[in-house]
Amino acid sequence: MQTTRPGEPVEQLIGVYGGTFDPIHYGHLRPALDVLNQLELDHVRFIPCFIPVHRAHPQVSSEQRCRMIELAIANQPNFILDKREIERQGPSFMVDTLRSLKQDFPHARLVLMMGTDAFAKFLSWHESETILELAHLAIMHRPNEPLPSQGALAQLLEARLVNQLPSSSSSSNQQAGQIVEVEVTQLDLSATRLRELLKNGQAVDYLMPPCVINYIKQHQLYL
Ligand code: ATP
Repeated sequence: MQTTRPGEPVEQLIGVYGGTFDPIHYGHLRPALDVLNQLELDHVRFIPCFIPVHRAHPQVSSEQRCRMIELAIANQPNFILDKREIERQGPSFMVDTLRSLKQDFPHARLVLMMGTDAFAKFLSWHESETILELAHLAIMHRPNEPLPSQGALAQLLEARLVNQLPSSSSSSNQQAGQIVEVEVTQLDLSATRLRELLKNGQAVDYLMPPCVINYIKQHQLYL
């Protein structure tokens, strides 16, 4: 563990990036890099779900989704593939994932990263209140997905929105529950669109890393 003074632990600030990643694309990767840099995170953990709770099952296997993530992040040492939801099996509740991360990283503050589309449904997530006791939230703007301006989510934002999370070297003891908006690169891209392009035999070049495109072609995925 890093220390500032002998015996004094420095809290890590860890980005937690859950998703189906079916498949991973530049709309995941570039915003994740923006969050890493702007919030001065120590690293970002890409955590592919096993069984998504609020949507259809992924189209390809967990192993294949993991392999594509691994290929995509191979050159970025601060991006880490974390297979805990896949190893845990069963429905992938984020609250369970955060609890297990807290066990593994007791001195870390967790920052749960999500696009505005995911945040729009946040209050329907299993134990959303507990999630806010375990992690801060970083919301990434997605094209055509504004932040809610009324209702319960708008109230949540009013109560918890801050301009910047305390960095890992700060002495702030706010462990969780703050929400920060991060201005990420706007890429109007979704895995749904990529799956459609692949199914129709259309090019996906420049929308995802070439190594991922090669893997998809080699294994004839999403046809
Ligand atoms: P699908 O089209 O299959 O729903 P997706 O592209 O939205 O997939 P997910 O794996 O469901 O990708 O998303 C994981 C996380 O990444 C979510 O929090 C989502 O909001 C975020 N995300 C996905 N695409 C973008 C994007 N283009 N810009 C910012 N955030 C994104």
